[in-house]
Amino acid sequence: MPRLRRGMSGAVARQAPVARAPAETPPLIEARDLSVRYAHGLALDGISLTIRGGEIVTVVGPNGSGKSTLIKALLGAVPLASGQVIRRPGLRIGYVPQRLGIDATMPLTVGRFLSLPRRRDAAEVSGALTRTGAAGLEDRPIARLSGGQLQRVLLARALLAGPDILILDEPTQGLDQPGAASFYRLIEEVRDETGCAVLMVSHDLHVVMSASDRVICLNHHICCQGSPNHVSEAPEYRALFGEGTGGALALYRHAHDHRHDSGDGHDHHHNHET
Ligand code: ADP
Ligand code: MG
Repeated sequence: MPRLRRGMSGAVARQAPVARAPAETPPLIEARDLSVRYAHGLALDGISLTIRGGEIVTVVGPNGSGKSTLIKALLGAVPLASGQVIRRPGLRIGYVPQRLGIDATMPLTVGRFLSLPRRRDAAEVSGALTRTGAAGLEDRPIARLSGGQLQRVLLARALLAGPDILILDEPTQGLDQPGAASFYRLIEEVRDETGCAVLMVSHDLHVVMSASDRVICLNHHICCQGSPNHVSEAPEYRALFGEGTGGALALYRHAHDHRHDSGDGHDHHHNHET
C-alpha cells in the first residue's frame, strides 16, 4: 500500500490530507456523453467522465486514439459534435500542452516565458522553478533546456496559475524511463502538497500507471477504467497494449516503493535526475 504509507509518514504528512474527495463534492470537470467529429469521422464517441478534487487520473491509449482531443474538449478548445462538458464555475486550470506553441529558436528566457501572458514577480517565478526542481534557470534561453528541464519549466508555469487541476498532455514525451518516473513523482508531490487534481495523458503507460488513482483507457470511446491494477488486468486494455506491460508495471511499482526511512521521520527515495 504505497500511497497509504506515504500519507502517514514523511514531509507530505504535514499537509492536510487531500486523498480521495468524497463522491458528493461537486466535480471539477464532467463530460456527459461527449463526441467530437473531425473531417475523417468521430475522434471521440460518447465519453462520460468525472474529475474530482485531488485525484490523479491518467488517460492512456494508442496514438491517434483521441487523447489530445479529449483534453482539448475538456478545456473547451474544440467544438463538440454532441454531449456537454461542465467545468466548475471559476475553475483554475494549469495546462501543460503536448507541444510548446512557441518557436524554439526564439531568444526567450525561462524567466520571461514564466511571465507570459501575465507578469509575475521574480520571487514567484523562482519559487515555482524551485518547486519543480528547476531552480536557477531564469536566465536560460528556452531553446537551450534539456527535455527534462523543459518539462519542469512547463510545470512551473502551470503551477503559477494556482490551479485546482493540472492538465498535462504527454508531459514526459522524449524523456527516458527514469526521467519520466521522476517527473511523475514530482506530479504526485505537487498534488499531495497543493491538493490540486491532476489529469494527464500518456501513451507510455508503463511508468505512469501506478502514480494514478484512476486510469482511463481510451480508444475513441472509453474501453475500460478503474484503478491501475484493475485496468492493467482488463482484457480491453490487454487487447490494446498486449500482455507485456504487466511486467513493466510491476518493475515500476518496485522502484516506486523502494524508499528508506531515516531517523528524522522523513522518508527518502531515490530520485533519478533527468
Ligand atoms: P492522440 O492524442 O491520442 O494521439 P488525437 O486526439 O491527437 O489523438 O487525434 C485523434 C484523431 O483525430 C487522429 O486520427 C488525428 O489524426 C485526428 N485529428 C486530431 N486533430 C485533428 C484536427 N484538428 N483536424 C482533423 N483531424 C484531427
Ligand atoms: Mg496526443
